[in-house]
Amino acid sequence: MPTTVEPHATGVLERYKALLPVTDATPLITLGEGATPLVRSARLEAEVGCEALYFKLESCNPTGSFKDRGMVVAVAKAMEQGAKAVMCASTGNTSASAAAYAARCGLDVYVIVPHGNIAEGKLAQAVAHGARIIAIEGSFDDALRLAREITDRYPIALVNSVNPHRIEGQKTASFEIVDVLGDAPDILCLPVGNAGNITAYWKGFVEYYQQEQATKKPMMWGFQASGAAPIVSGEPVPEPKTLATAIRIGNPASWQGATDARDASGGAITAVTDAEILIAYRRLAQDEGIFCEPASAACVAGLMTRANSEDVAGKTVVCVITGSGLKDPERAMAEFAPELQPVAPELSLVEQEMGLQ
Ligand SMILES: *Cc1c(COP(=O)(O)O)cnc(C)c1O
Repeated sequence: MPTTVEPHATGVLERYKALLPVTDATPLITLGEGATPLVRSARLEAEVGCEALYFKLESCNPTGSFKDRGMVVAVAKAMEQGAKAVMCASTGNTSASAAAYAARCGLDVYVIVPHGNIAEGKLAQAVAHGARIIAIEGSFDDALRLAREITDRYPIALVNSVNPHRIEGQKTASFEIVDVLGDAPDILCLPVGNAGNITAYWKGFVEYYQQEQATKKPMMWGFQASGAAPIVSGEPVPEPKTLATAIRIGNPASWQGATDARDASGGAITAVTDAEILIAYRRLAQDEGIFCEPASAACVAGLMTRANSEDVAGKTVVCVITGSGLKDPERAMAEFAPELQPVAPELSLVEQEMGLQ
């Protein structure tokens, strides 16, 4: 297949091709993923007590989560290998991303999801992009096992993060952080579900360090929800529970990658409760102007907790905001929605509602 360079190509394949598994035959597809903002904290930084706190807004990717970075590489490699269809198991964002890239590239896409456990916005995206959706009465872990079995039997490419091309694409977020800060941060905080992302970030930081693009590597601080914390407890969780659906995973596929990243970086993977996640979710929205999904807030919850016991003074910290709050409007409405009482369209009544009288 000839290499297609789209006009104005700005995606990760084009930008980081020397550091990705890109050959002359790899189509340089893009939906404009990557190059996401690194925004400095307005308020939480002082409370945490570190030198500088930044948020990497992966919610600004084309489908609203970091999954696009890995998906663009996985789909490009699938096309290079002649695939006509892709498949994934998903807690939501992987399916939204796979569906978008498959639609753009003219591939069929099959998505297998745990019924009732996927945020509405994510399902809406997959449906809009024309994915064939199979809902199972089971967990994400069941869905992934089935997706592996199907893709072993049929000529369909598996685009979950067990596909090494996903990890390759996702490591580009580390490159961007170093490119913007001029060096690696001291601490990187991120939520951990299937553990592909922590594996990918660590790979990216190590590669940049080896190429002398950075003088150090960060400590990796991963956070799981306490009801879905297999890496923290050291054993799979048969029925993971948390309102942070993107990290409701009981048996992470990249478990080893996560513990390697933790140990090699001198970092930690710890648990945060749903209550702590919701406090961080609210703080991000109301003190930082950042509307993220609950799973993303887990890393900010974790940082706020760990900063009580660990010395973060003088440290530069980056929290990865993995996905957009628009994915899960039901959660936001449940958390924040006041009881709306419509009033007549009269000045005095509006003034009263505003508390001006
Ligand atoms: C996928 C996802 C995660 C978890 O990432 P893993 O690579 O599975 O550990 C966290 N947050 C959001 C928003 C996600 O979509």
